[in-house]
Amino acid sequence: MLFLLFALSAVVATVVAVVGRRRRSTASAVGALAFLAAGIAGWSAADALLALIDDARIARVFQTVKFLAIGMVPAGLYCLSLAVADRRWRPSRRMAVLLGVEPALVLAAIATNLWHHGFFLAADNVDPHGVSTPEVGPLFWVHTAYSYLLLAAALVRLLHSWITGPPAQRSLYGAILAGASVPIAANVVSLAGLIPVTGLTSVGFSVTVVIIYWTLVHRSLPELVPVARERVFDMIDDAVATIDASGRILDLNTAAGQLLLRLAPGLPERLIGLPLADLLGGLPPADGGEIETALTDGSGRPVELNVRTSVLRDSRGGHAGWAILARDVTALNRQRRELEQANAQLLRQRTDLESANARLHDKQQQLEDSNAQLHRQLRTIELLRADLVEQATRDALTGLHNRRHLMEELRREMAGAAADGRPLSAALLDIDHFKQVNDRYGHRAGDEVLTWFAGLLGEGFRRDDVVARYGGEEFVVVFPGATAEQARARVETLRERVAGQEVRADEHELRVTFSAGVAAVMPGQSPDDLLQAADEALYAAKRGGRNQTRVAAGPQPETSHRAA
Ligand code: GH3
Ligand code: MG
Ligand code: MG
Repeated sequence: MLFLLFALSAVVATVVAVVGRRRRSTASAVGALAFLAAGIAGWSAADALLALIDDARIARVFQTVKFLAIGMVPAGLYCLSLAVADRRWRPSRRMAVLLGVEPALVLAAIATNLWHHGFFLAADNVDPHGVSTPEVGPLFWVHTAYSYLLLAAALVRLLHSWITGPPAQRSLYGAILAGASVPIAANVVSLAGLIPVTGLTSVGFSVTVVIIYWTLVHRSLPELVPVARERVFDMIDDAVATIDASGRILDLNTAAGQLLLRLAPGLPERLIGLPLADLLGGLPPADGGEIETALTDGSGRPVELNVRTSVLRDSRGGHAGWAILARDVTALNRQRRELEQANAQLLRQRTDLESANARLHDKQQQLEDSNAQLHRQLRTIELLRADLVEQATRDALTGLHNRRHLMEELRREMAGAAADGRPLSAALLDIDHFKQVNDRYGHRAGDEVLTWFAGLLGEGFRRDDVVARYGGEEFVVVFPGATAEQARARVETLRERVAGQEVRADEHELRVTFSAGVAAVMPGQSPDDLLQAADEALYAAKRGGRNQTRVAAGPQPETSHRAA
């Protein structure tokens, strides 16, 4: 019956040990529990076998195994108490050695007991149940004291975690504490001989490891956080490393390892402990911060790094090292430089374009200026040409229109009058005895008289009337819209005015008169016909004694006036 109980306990503890070992990567506490469960499995198995056999020497062997297994229990529980309180806890080599010393000594003590009987006083007592229960010596009590001290330390730690730990973890600490305290308390009681329960501690611990395992697995989600962190730490592309105050690498992720191998291809595989400061060319700034640094990789290619450092301090505030995050910004910087260059080029092109535009503008301005100049020159030419044309229509001496212009005007006016049915008259004026003026006062005086006479003609008639020098001392006046009588009246006014004045010519005072013949246009007449008619009337005036106006014979009544 006892055998079955111990065997069952051994099986259960073995299962927990095996499963826990397999799952030790989820949390270090699971690994510690697996170690604890292995101890209990060994303890229970030894108990089971001791319950079966009655040979003292074989029993001694199992006793030895049992004490070895029991030695694992306080060590396992102590590790568990550390692991549940600190997720990052890992058994250090030093701790493993320290925890192994005592079981090794126990093993040695038991192995050499025959000579010193310090652990067991008499090894041959066999109780009626077949379980070897040797009387124990002082070394056993030393071992027991050590074990209980370690167990107590573990319980105190668990108790501390239970009181001060995060609320979400309290039930975990409580379950472990309760599960561990019950068999320990029972063992203490039985050792003290207070109650007659002996040898069932391993069974109690089996139940305990099952409870702890169950609780740990149910608490595995928060336990996964550090694992996830570690995975993320390794997944990120930026290089992350922790270095101590002397610059030696304490921890680094995959990206950091790859970066270091790129920078220094000859580095050993294990980078932890290497002086990172030497590789990066100095220690990070004492107050942390962010810097950009340019390095070269193993094949001489540039590597630009953005390095952010955060100073790590120990519990007393002393400088313990740095957390470093380095990002390879080579490609980013190159792109930024290319972008800047492209930008600068664009700016230059824009400036070029603007100056070309300005030059174009200047050219346009020059073109407009020369255009304006050309226009002014053209206008001058136009004016000059108009002046020339005008000059060609004028008589050089008197400034009156010449005969050619007169004939054009007469033709135009006659055509207009014929079209409108308006009257039109012309008068031919001839200075009397002008030859005598030349003869008597000189040709220059004659010219001055002609100029003076022309001036009077210009002032004496209307704007629409056409006044021209016909030739020599003969002048023609065309009166558009005037009948012969109206024309005659106007010529007469002038004739009286001329006859009544003295003219000063080349220092001489003299008087001149003129005779005039007036003719009104008749249907079918040409300009020459009209002037011919006027000339005939003039001839009549000359014959009639000069200084008078005659109207051409025709439908108009002929009238004659003679100066008094
Ligand atoms: P009548 O009363 O019959 O018209 O006599 P007249 O002397 O005026 O006529 P005639 O035809 O014989 O003489 C015209 C003169 O006019 C002749 C010419 O010397 C003069 N004469 C013609 N043209 C000019 C000129 O431009 N300047 C000067 N000074 N004399 C001129
Ligand atoms: Mg004449
Ligand atoms: Mg004359």
